[in-house]
Amino acid sequence: MARIVMKFGGTSMAGMERIRNVAARVKHVVSQGNEVAVVVSAMAGDTDRLVGFCKEASPLYDPAEYDVVVASGEQVTSGLLAMTLKAMGVDARSWLGWQLPIRTVEAHAKARVSDIDTIDLLASMRAGKVAVIPGFQGMMADGRVSTLGRGGSDTSAVAVAAAIKADRCDIYTDVDGVYTTDPRIVARARKLDLVTYEEMLELASVGAKVLQTRSVGLAMKEGVVVQVLSSFDDPAQTDLPGTLIVSEEELEAKLKEDKMERQLITGIAHDKNEAKIIVTRVPDKPGAVASIFGPLADAAINVDMIIQNDSKEKEETDVTFTVPRADLARSVDLLEAHKDTIGFRRIITDVEVAKISVVGVGMRSHAGVAATMFKTLADRGINIEAISTSEIKVSVLIDEDETELAVRVLHTAYGLDAPAA
Ligand code: ASP
Ligand code: MG
Repeated sequence: MARIVMKFGGTSMAGMERIRNVAARVKHVVSQGNEVAVVVSAMAGDTDRLVGFCKEASPLYDPAEYDVVVASGEQVTSGLLAMTLKAMGVDARSWLGWQLPIRTVEAHAKARVSDIDTIDLLASMRAGKVAVIPGFQGMMADGRVSTLGRGGSDTSAVAVAAAIKADRCDIYTDVDGVYTTDPRIVARARKLDLVTYEEMLELASVGAKVLQTRSVGLAMKEGVVVQVLSSFDDPAQTDLPGTLIVSEEELEAKLKEDKMERQLITGIAHDKNEAKIIVTRVPDKPGAVASIFGPLADAAINVDMIIQNDSKEKEETDVTFTVPRADLARSVDLLEAHKDTIGFRRIITDVEVAKISVVGVGMRSHAGVAATMFKTLADRGINIEAISTSEIKVSVLIDEDETELAVRVLHTAYGLDAPAA
């Protein structure tokens, strides 16, 4: 017997027929003797609809009331699933965020879970009742409803799994796992059996939108084993059909057990959500760069890639960097407002860029990963506009139009293509 958290996303909960499928799947896991807590999303599209109502009610809506409104989508699906389970002969009850409670910090619309009371929850689960918990919602110290930010029900599921010390947190979604790259771009992308928390964090933050990034960070911190799998596959199929997200030690142990070699690169991600800014002819003197990035940091704008050329003769330099596309206009305004202090000539922006990243814990112990990337792109005439690296990731900025080509050639170059069928 194991204690398992099962999480179902919005597509899996969209309508009664799908909720019945979810209930059947839960019933199957319960019938194998497991203790089960289920965390659910609102029906696909409902949260967007609710957000729309808030904006219509008042452009400057009260965030506390926004949370009351948007948290309701999950209240509906948790009640419906508990009802459906009971109708199928599976004992179940719903536990709303404020009933457990799931306590969060004081931050409407972007709260973080601080702790979860589990005494009543565990007693009920031990007595054989499936616990159905709405994702996304919690309660602040002042008793008001809070929500965890869009996509937050993944984080709810991981937080519940950590709190009840679940053996696994299974996240059912509309894809059947994590892939080496976007299967819509590369037909021969492969589903990964295992990926480490760190790799998943990097992949999630650069565009592989399977899980909310925050949920992966929490799983890593709490050591929760997460499995990503499809809610549309046959529920009775073989054990662990999805992708397991584990620690590097667990990955090593598994590879040894299966006598498998570790791959150099685990996955390739692309991200079109960044914009490039070039600040030209900045004085090449101490404090110049600080005067550019200080105002952006104060405005909580996340700068990602940065290049600064050292100009030996000119005593002036161009500074190139990327910011989220959504923050581009604000960034330019801020820089213009500080033009006198920074002392630049002009600002050039470009939104037609894409960031391509190769990710893998294997690159820690291997040289030449970046060189292979640059050579592969050069062979196809793809120009690199900026570069950034971490211990397990190399990212390059390229022309947006070349995204698909770059992903394809890199997938082949690192030996990730599935064997031809
Ligand atoms: N329903 C919420 C949203 O759409 C939370 C979630 O589904 O993860 O953002
Ligand atoms: Mg989601």
